[in-house]
Amino acid sequence: MGFNVCLQRTSDGALAVYHDDDAWSETADYQWGEGNLSCDCNRRLYFARTRKEPEDWDADCSEGSYRVLWIKDDRGQFIPGWEEPVEERT
Ligand SMILES: [Zn+2]
Repeated sequence: MGFNVCLQRTSDGALAVYHDDDAWSETADYQWGEGNLSCDCNRRLYFARTRKEPEDWDADCSEGSYRVLWIKDDRGQFIPGWEEPVEERT
C-alpha cells in the first residue's frame, strides 16, 4: 500500500497530491519531516511533477514555499503526525 502527500504552494494555495507507491515507513517520515523532502528544493519538484508542470532545478533552497497539508495512506487514513492542519478544516 502506498501513500498520498498533499502539497500546497503557499504563494497561491494551489494543491498537488503526490502518490508514492512505496509503503509509509520511518524513512519516509524522516524524509518528509527532516530529510530531503522537508525543504522546498524537492517539494517543488514533486509538486511540478504531479501537476505536469515544468520542473525548476535551479531554485535556491528555501523553506515554507511548499507545505504538506496532510499525508494519508491508500485507504484514506491519516498518517499519524501528518493530519490535516486544524485551520484547513471546514
Ligand atoms: Zn532545500
